[in-house]
Amino acid sequence: MEPHEHGIVRDQISAGALQTLEGLQAAGYRACLVGGAVRDLLLGVAPKDFDVATDAEPEAVVEVFGRKARLIGRRFRIAHVRFGREIVEVSTFRADPGASDPGADTRELDDAGRVLRDNVFGSIAEDARRRDFAINGLYYDISDDCVYDYVGGMADVDARRLRLIGDADVRYREDPVRMIRAVRIAAKLGLTIDEPALPPRALVPLLADVPSARMFDEVLKLLMNPAGPAVFRMLREHGLFTPLFDQTAAVLDSPAGAASEALIEQAVANTAARIEAGRPVTPAFIFAALLWPAVREQAAELERGGTPPAPALASAQSQVVGHQIQRVAIPKRFSVPMREIWQLQPRFHRRRGKQASRLIAHPRFRAAYDFLLLRAGAGEVDDELAQWWTDAQDHPSTPTPGSGAGGAPGAGRRRKRRGGRRRKSAEPA
Ligand code: ATP
Ligand code: MG
Repeated sequence: MEPHEHGIVRDQISAGALQTLEGLQAAGYRACLVGGAVRDLLLGVAPKDFDVATDAEPEAVVEVFGRKARLIGRRFRIAHVRFGREIVEVSTFRADPGASDPGADTRELDDAGRVLRDNVFGSIAEDARRRDFAINGLYYDISDDCVYDYVGGMADVDARRLRLIGDADVRYREDPVRMIRAVRIAAKLGLTIDEPALPPRALVPLLADVPSARMFDEVLKLLMNPAGPAVFRMLREHGLFTPLFDQTAAVLDSPAGAASEALIEQAVANTAARIEAGRPVTPAFIFAALLWPAVREQAAELERGGTPPAPALASAQSQVVGHQIQRVAIPKRFSVPMREIWQLQPRFHRRRGKQASRLIAHPRFRAAYDFLLLRAGAGEVDDELAQWWTDAQDHPSTPTPGSGAGGAPGAGRRRKRRGGRRRKSAEPA
């Protein structure tokens, strides 16, 4: 095949990836940069990580790099090679035997046609065809400075088009996660999804069966992302949000769902802005927003049935989270603070002296306050309430209209001790 003209220059490639490529080539193997990094470089975007594909089998990669390398993965056996803080993922060229001769398919599939295990090694051209999208199936070889294209990916880069390799029904059944990858990659790079690659309504429900731990990783990549707002819109547009967050989707799709939709959009937009500004973000906050509409509705339902507000909220949380983790596993280190953010919301309605100062002193106050701002933005609580808590942190002695007690004196004493170090801006802990 003809290698292609391109604009990739060597110093755009990470030091670890270069050393991996050179190490494998010095040992006599073929090794190329592949996947997202090649795609991003061709589109003029800085890659997030660098993946290498090689004809060396995983054990051979470990032989080349010794203690720097280790084998990981069950479904795909691959090697991770570590250079300081950078980890380069090295995968061996694999064939997709099902593509040419279904009878010769040695992959393990489940009942829905999903690939469970796939360790059949193959040629670079075969490796290209088992990848998801044509723009993800490009190989860059540093030794001859050429891009190798077996799937028409270069034409798609030029057209800024996201096209599946092969048949949508087959490829999306094999791995339903590809449907959300399509949305994520298109949103990140501003690509047009090729008509046949648009997630088919009939296959979208298959996402509900993806293992929940993998789904958690995918949700973070989707929404804790500078392109998060576009991703969220596209997930909704293509019905992909529903199998991931079915309880929330039911609320968003109800007649009064627009405000809840706005709340989630705002949370995703805040997260994106923080990432762009290099500030810390936590999955606890985004998940708190993603599940809140369902928690709030469930709590209201229980209250209508006579349960008092506090136990209604606690029990709604448990029900919603218990159901959600079957779809998207939320690790305890995030679900615990997420629940605290919710649990603190009713306390914002109690503004008298001691109660207010205790709330401000709570370790999760900042995240809970940011969450209150989201709710105010969505019209769930009065702006006046949110403003009161904003002022209570900065001007503790301001008289409080309607609160009767005149501000939050406790908060004031505490703030003075702290020497005004509190930041004015939103800061989920
Ligand atoms: P990102 O910019 O998010 O890293 P990426 O395309 O690099 O996007 P990775 O998860 O890093 O995504 O995957 C690296 C490469 O592996 C992809 O470019 C693609 O070639 C291949 N790949 C990843 N996931 C799949 C999948 N589900 N099916 C087929 N190929 C995949
Ligand atoms: Mg990548």
